[in-house]
Amino acid sequence: MYLGVMVRLDDMNVDARFKQVYDYGFKHCQLCNWKMENYTDEAVELVKAACEKYGITITSLWCGWEGPRIWNFYEGYHTLGLVPTEYRYARIKNLMAGSDFAKKLGVSQIVTHAGYLPEDPTSSLYSELVTAIRVVANYCKANGQSFLFETGQETPVTLLRVIEDVGTGNLGINLDPANLILYGKANPVDALDIFGKYVMDIHAKDGLYPTGGKSLGKEVKIGSGKVDFPRFIAKLREIGYDGPLTIEREISGEQQIKDIMESKVYLEGLI
Ligand code: MG
Repeated sequence: MYLGVMVRLDDMNVDARFKQVYDYGFKHCQLCNWKMENYTDEAVELVKAACEKYGITITSLWCGWEGPRIWNFYEGYHTLGLVPTEYRYARIKNLMAGSDFAKKLGVSQIVTHAGYLPEDPTSSLYSELVTAIRVVANYCKANGQSFLFETGQETPVTLLRVIEDVGTGNLGINLDPANLILYGKANPVDALDIFGKYVMDIHAKDGLYPTGGKSLGKEVKIGSGKVDFPRFIAKLREIGYDGPLTIEREISGEQQIKDIMESKVYLEGLI
């Protein structure tokens, strides 16, 4: 296992963002983009040049999509991922554009939040989603890539079922252990018993369980939440995971930098 960090492409301040990764002492990152207009050949050249200059390897491209996104238990069902029918077609195209952009960068893993995958496999929404995801996954496959689900909005067994039913052979999981807790869906250590063999990238993030029925739990600094990192890392080692641990801290400013650096030291001690 080795450490990386999340990098945002959104403001197109590419050189400065990658310099920061280098200054933090990382050699790996996930590149995340929510602005579809950033998928240009100019951006490809900028990112390639920055990776070369600072000796950074991108493990996965985290692909956002257009339209509203509200991360809660109410509007989340109607705004996130490929679940809402009114955005589904546009977002399939967004993910395909991300796949093409990644291919030009030589990145072989695409990650996204597919939305609240339905627990009921007999529902029509479930079969529509399986079909929509299969379209995107096959597109990634033709580009020589794996398609990874960001965890959190569904139980681990539902995600496993979707992977089996999509069945394109190039599917994996970007396990965000904090998300499983923030959404109250599972203990991430135990979730590895269910879908561990599909984990291909990981967000090192921590959080607390929801304490009411209406809001997600709170994201907190690594080591101060409910993810049992010593057991989590030990279990990853046990199942043979040898990929990246990408530190994600969803705040900004000086505190974010401080937390990332402290998390790096903490995780280095565990891996
Ligand atoms: Mg995440």
